Amino acid sequence: MKPQVSDFERGRRIVIALIALAVAFGLAALMFTKEGTTENMVLALASLACIIAVIAAAMRYCRCPHCGKRIVNGVLVLKVCPSCKRSLITGQKIKK
Ligand SMILES: [Zn+2]
Repeated sequence: MKPQVSDFERGRRIVIALIALAVAFGLAALMFTKEGTTENMVLALASLACIIAVIAAAMRYCRCPHCGKRIVNGVLVLKVCPSCKRSLITGQKIKK
């Protein structure tokens, strides 16, 4: 049986993957190409595209699946919605 993954968790994974890609393209542009060359431009644009995709994915997925609150700050570390106190991963109400 596959573990249930919420939209939020899926979005978080997409965001992390895209950030990693953006960093990888950015580093490759800096380290392996010279400024002003076609390769440099292509890698820089690819990095930029990834950053835009990160923002788009964050807008699309990074909201609480229960109350709809948009979660931008702490999206990579938060496990509980600050608004409705439900787990963003399992949807369980967190008892305090
Ligand atoms: Zn919530």
